[in-house]
Amino acid sequence: MNGGLEEHLDALVGKLDLPRKVRLLTGASHWRTYAEPAVGLREITVSDGPAGVRGPAWDNGSPSACLPCPTGIAASWDVDRAAAAGRVLAAEATRKDVDVVLAPTANLQRSPLAGRHFEWWSEDPVLTGRLAAALVGTLQRHGVAATVKHYVANDSETERATVDIRLDERTLREVYLAPFEHIVRNAQPWLVMASYNAVNGTPMTEHDLLDSPLRTRWGFDGLVMSDWYATRSVAAAASAGLDLIMPGPGGPWGPALVQAVTDGLVSEAAVDAKVKNLLRLAARLGALESVPVSRTPVTVDARRELRAAAVDGTVLLRNSGDLLPLAPERLRRVAVFGELAGSPRIQGGGSAEVRPTQVVSPLDGLEAALPPGVQLTYTAGSYLEGDPATVPPGMLGSPVLIRWLDDTGAEVAREDRRNAALVRLGADVPAGATTVELTTRIVPDVSGTWQLGLSGAGRIVFAVDGRTLLDDDVRPTHEGPGAEILTPPVRTFDVPLDAGRPVDVLLRQRMPRSGCAVSIRSRPPRRTPAEELAVARERARAADVAIVVVGTSSQTESEGFDRADLSLPDGQDDLVQAVAAENPNTVVVVNAGAPVLLPWRDDVAAVLVTWFGGQESGAALADVLLGHAEPGGRLPMTWPAHGEDVPVLDTAPAGGRLAYGEGLHVGYRAWLRAGVEPAYPFGHGVGYTSWEVVSVDSGVDGDGGPDATVRVSVRNTGPRPGKQVLQVYLARPGSGVDRPARWLAGFAVVRGEPGETRTAEIPLPPQALRHWDAARHDWAVEPGTFEVAIGFSCADIRGTTSIKVHEE
Ligand code: BGC
Repeated sequence: MNGGLEEHLDALVGKLDLPRKVRLLTGASHWRTYAEPAVGLREITVSDGPAGVRGPAWDNGSPSACLPCPTGIAASWDVDRAAAAGRVLAAEATRKDVDVVLAPTANLQRSPLAGRHFEWWSEDPVLTGRLAAALVGTLQRHGVAATVKHYVANDSETERATVDIRLDERTLREVYLAPFEHIVRNAQPWLVMASYNAVNGTPMTEHDLLDSPLRTRWGFDGLVMSDWYATRSVAAAASAGLDLIMPGPGGPWGPALVQAVTDGLVSEAAVDAKVKNLLRLAARLGALESVPVSRTPVTVDARRELRAAAVDGTVLLRNSGDLLPLAPERLRRVAVFGELAGSPRIQGGGSAEVRPTQVVSPLDGLEAALPPGVQLTYTAGSYLEGDPATVPPGMLGSPVLIRWLDDTGAEVAREDRRNAALVRLGADVPAGATTVELTTRIVPDVSGTWQLGLSGAGRIVFAVDGRTLLDDDVRPTHEGPGAEILTPPVRTFDVPLDAGRPVDVLLRQRMPRSGCAVSIRSRPPRRTPAEELAVARERARAADVAIVVVGTSSQTESEGFDRADLSLPDGQDDLVQAVAAENPNTVVVVNAGAPVLLPWRDDVAAVLVTWFGGQESGAALADVLLGHAEPGGRLPMTWPAHGEDVPVLDTAPAGGRLAYGEGLHVGYRAWLRAGVEPAYPFGHGVGYTSWEVVSVDSGVDGDGGPDATVRVSVRNTGPRPGKQVLQVYLARPGSGVDRPARWLAGFAVVRGEPGETRTAEIPLPPQALRHWDAARHDWAVEPGTFEVAIGFSCADIRGTTSIKVHEE
């Protein structure tokens, strides 16, 4: 290579004719781009995060380390923890030959109802931006590209492919673009993903925002890729900053874009710029022969990292009488309740899902950790009415035979597997196949009325022992891109079965174009809910400690749709109340990616939030319950006491539009402004020790310049080593512009032994003191005095100082 990289890339672009250039601008498959031997470019492989790195096969590739969901990582409030998550993703990507990870997300938890709440980090732009930037930095340091998504204002799911978000310029800049800006400026991500939605009338794949501020003001020099199937236009998208349409092959560009250039509707220079952005990405990845790179190999002890991450994000909301940590030497009988204790939700539903390398449930974790001699009992106590699970491999009396059939019913391919769930995206379906058929034999282990069924959309036939139970067109439960794959509907039937007597099951699906996502489901006979609850009461009464694991189900919390309300589904509140009435030492563990209402919270001794804690979450829970580790989390969003108090409940567009009428006042900012007390405020979490603020010093030279810091000293006044999250909030009483009541400007984690004093220097970035002046379309500073408050949550302020700011 002669000269600099940019000249070299220009020269490579110059070697390609228009059709070859345009070909590179649409994916070659669901997860790959095209190679171009003429310029020494190999294909680039992308794969979803953020839960883990699935790899280019959806369900029969090698399993993946499953991390806590971003909300759970964010609850650590620790940039080092986010960086560690980046290291796990880098190691997994390297192991699976993945070049580009489709993470992190940088959207905001505008409403707790949002279906993908678990995949967003926080309701606050600063917390989101800082943590996501740390993840990007680590991932890319190991040679794996990060994709910051979904740019921008993709904060809920209803009508997500088309919704037009209406918001004012200042809100866009200060709230929704802010995390993207921080990440781009500080971590230089190699990709940004343009979201499905429109902003103020223009689809994001066609939006000026892809150019300014992204490239022109923030200096982004990476590749802009579309979200899957998001691009709908030729000239409008190609003339905007969109570089790469995903997935492919096919889609709106290809020959139509060549024609548009020939007709003068799109300039060839625009095409060249896109190809150059792709080649620059390839150069960074080592995917260009002429630009060799040395990649630092990264290996991690994934299970250890995942367990530590889950511990660090676990939030102890309440610990009355210091019941936790439990003293194992005083325990005789521990009773565990809740379906989720045995079958936890370790990850949210949707595109990020991975097949974990293993799952440690709360029950497994406790069984392994409790000393011998402690009796552990388990009763579900209530049933999650959601879908029965995929038939476990242990119940299969024969391998699952998969036959791929063409339109005439002739077999074009077959395979065997030990898994009753199958996902095969369109491009991976054997050529010519339009129907897939799964047959297997199920051997029940108990007699009684089982629920047998299936998941899948399209024309479905389902038969048990030759008897057809379903032959119908099954519509997806939710709408939107990929709904047949991401949230396939479930149908079940009551079937009497005898223990040990095998039954033959057949599932046939005429596949939608997107591919197949089907499974055979089963659920053993169960007691009636009343009988189940009666058993739970009895066991709770007999135990020293009762642990109830509750949470959301795949029916209530997933990508593809928003939640209807914030209540725990399926009688779980009744279960908690029944157990708590029998046992004063009741600990409730909340396994959800978003706030749920806890109407019984003052009637139980302790409440822990473990989020969708990843595959090691059960082990982490045991660590926390038994005091081997401190629950290190603080809430990255507000937890409401009542649904009607929530500031933003509208996630449903009206006439295709969704107005962000609350403006800047999102999350805790709105709660503080309204003066309404939530159940637990943003930033709350009690840990196992106590802290006092010893001193606060603004340590600034007075102008909020780059050196502005707040110096805080705190002392661990409790009996155990522990962690505290110091949160710096700003306020500007009497401001001439609309302001949040208080806004997060910085934060730091401190750890200390009992009696120890720790000092943190918390930088106050100039951005924290600026506001967007919509009249001038630029950032501005309002000279004067800002209040600086140090809190252990946004509502628990322990010290204050002030900072005087002059004209910039
Ligand atoms: C999601 C993206 C994801 C993509 C590929 C889309 O539906 O919005 O987050 O990366 O699918 O799976």
